[in-house]
Amino acid sequence: MSQVRVRFAPSPTGYFHVGGARTALFNWIYARQHDGVFILRIEDTDRERSTRESVGYFIEGLKWLGLDPDEGPYFQGERSEAHKAAVDALLSSGHAYRDFLTPEALTAQKEAAQAAKETWRFDANERARSREDSDALAADGNPFVVRFRVPEGETVVFDDLVFGENRKSSENIDDFVLLRSDGSPLYNLSVVVDDADMKISHVIRGQDHLSNTPKQILLYRALGKDVPQFGHLPLILAPNKAKLSKRKHGEIVSLNFYRDRGFLPDAFANFMALLGWSPGAEDEKLTHAALIEKFDLAKVNKSNAIFNYNPGDERLYTDPKAIAINAQYLQEMPIEDLAPLVEARFREIGLWKDEWAEEGGSAGGAPRGRAWFLTVLDLIRERYRTLHDFEESGRAFFADDFEMDEKAVKKNLQKEGMGDLLTGLATALEAVDPFDLEHVEAAVRAFSEETGAKLGLIMNGARTAMTGTGVGPSMFHAIPLLGREKCARRLRAATALAATP
Ligand code: GLU
Repeated sequence: MSQVRVRFAPSPTGYFHVGGARTALFNWIYARQHDGVFILRIEDTDRERSTRESVGYFIEGLKWLGLDPDEGPYFQGERSEAHKAAVDALLSSGHAYRDFLTPEALTAQKEAAQAAKETWRFDANERARSREDSDALAADGNPFVVRFRVPEGETVVFDDLVFGENRKSSENIDDFVLLRSDGSPLYNLSVVVDDADMKISHVIRGQDHLSNTPKQILLYRALGKDVPQFGHLPLILAPNKAKLSKRKHGEIVSLNFYRDRGFLPDAFANFMALLGWSPGAEDEKLTHAALIEKFDLAKVNKSNAIFNYNPGDERLYTDPKAIAINAQYLQEMPIEDLAPLVEARFREIGLWKDEWAEEGGSAGGAPRGRAWFLTVLDLIRERYRTLHDFEESGRAFFADDFEMDEKAVKKNLQKEGMGDLLTGLATALEAVDPFDLEHVEAAVRAFSEETGAKLGLIMNGARTAMTGTGVGPSMFHAIPLLGREKCARRLRAATALAATP
């Protein structure tokens, strides 16, 4: 078999839709599975709607997902000579003809056909016009479109890699336009010319293009080119089966949402792969490498995939499965792989301190430098869902400007005698040396016995005083990582919020 060459061919007229991202992912996987080539082709022939900004979304989005193209980006708009040459060849061979009908006359014909419950296919006079006549009218400057001469009495049959056998009688295909009257090529023409020139072996794209495929196959044949294999992917719909759009469903349909909200690219790719495909009974956690091993295009569902969303969650109102997979990756990935991602984010928002990159070893029982950073991340990630949780829920570990959760203050600090307990605990902790888990725990337990205050009461008060929240990891582990001085200072500061007898 000749080399597998696949392409992702977005039209840069807007955001990078998750459906498009999944198409790119499946193409990339297919290329990697077959030692093939993954090509990025920007279909920017629609000059008015294409923007540079949108091109950037696709290039950046693929990079973020780790789907590096082997070739491209090619720009379709730069290939207009090839498109025109193909039209000329089709005109010469008689597979295409010029149609001089005015738009008004065409509309009238189509309306008449509709009224008679017939399918409009072509204007018989235009189709039958002699070549000399056509050349003369064109030379005189009469406007025309170029139409494909669909062969009569043929059935186009192809075996779709996902949908199986497809048939379409040419009686049901109209003589579609290849070139507009302004000389610009239409999608079916440019896509076939480009796919043929780029030697694309497998066209893997959204199901919305399934109905274009018979036309494209006829074009390949008329141009004397090899017809590639086609594989169409089911659509991704909202729970009410509506098309998933930014206008209706908001930012969650755009890949940028996930990057901007601290999702991990591998986790998000994993989630997308499960839209319309399943690894069967096996674990659904599939890294890029596992996807390459397990993914099977032939097993992609024919029915549309449903993308859920959760309007109840203000911050992450997206598919709960996307969040769950992300949380799983975040909590299970090697801490050494997670740290650079958190570091990059902290640098971006100005929360980073260079000492966290230094080999610090340990001092006074607690790790320092890089070791401290890794230990803290590992301790606090337990219930985290996105990278942003580190700077939000976990902020108190990295900065002093963390927020005090009102509910937690009320519940844990506004208790009778809490002011004295916090001051007493601060004094007790100041005397702990070395300031490590073992000694901190012993001191807190001794303080509890001494004062007769329950350990839970003390630890909840300490948690809220030191980290601003009512939930979080074990405080015996957290206290040595926060350090003696910070703990004492925060306990004393919190007395202002606590109830004193
Ligand atoms: N530019 C087309 C689109 O974004 C590509 C279709 C195809 O892959 O053939 O829908």
